[in-house]
Amino acid sequence: MAYPRAGGEIPGFRRLLPRVLPPVLFLALLLLGLLGGLWLYRRLSGAMTGHEAYIALQPPSPSRSPRVGLVAGHLGHDSGAVCADGLTEVEVNTAIARGVARRLEALGYAVDVLEEFDERLHGYRAAALLSIHADSCEYINELATGFKVARAQADAVPEQSDRLVACLISAYGRKTGLRFHADSITYDMTDYHAFREIAPETPAAIIETGFLYLDRDLLTRGREQVIEGIVEGLRCFLEESE
Ligand SMILES: [Zn+2]
Repeated sequence: MAYPRAGGEIPGFRRLLPRVLPPVLFLALLLLGLLGGLWLYRRLSGAMTGHEAYIALQPPSPSRSPRVGLVAGHLGHDSGAVCADGLTEVEVNTAIARGVARRLEALGYAVDVLEEFDERLHGYRAAALLSIHADSCEYINELATGFKVARAQADAVPEQSDRLVACLISAYGRKTGLRFHADSITYDMTDYHAFREIAPETPAAIIETGFLYLDRDLLTRGREQVIEGIVEGLRCFLEESE
């Protein structure tokens, strides 16, 4: 009985094989497909995570928050012009530079307030650099009132710097009511040291906000107008550049 049973099992198995094999093969292929899919998914998601990390490491695009450099004239170096009662040019320049910086930062700009001989000026890159100074506190004559704006004599981007100067002259004159004192722009202004230190592609200008003697009221008590004039002048330039 044992033999026929065993002998009977082999043909039974052979009969079963064609029925069992297709579902087994199907399951094996399904498993391979799932494993392959899982491998592909891990490869792709890994690549995407890597890509996101790469993007996150990039510095913010300069067009999103343009950088502006403001030199507070004489800061960290000397007092600049000094008035008889002790008011100094450096304190006037610094208050104006800080006021302009606060306003520009509130508008979304990245601002550096720089010292007169700041290390950061070497190769400095920004959408614009403005150095803020004020004129003498000596009584010269009744004509010693008004403001001046100039760019470097040897400017590598003269069209841009000229536009910066034009924007500042127009906005500053409008906001402060001061006259533009073109006739007293000196060689010192156009050959200003910072112009030679910054990156050549940075548009730059220097402003003399007024004379500390005759324009003192505006530069101290009327400082908001001064700040407004500079902010408007810079925005006129920066918004056109974007
Ligand atoms: Zn000065």
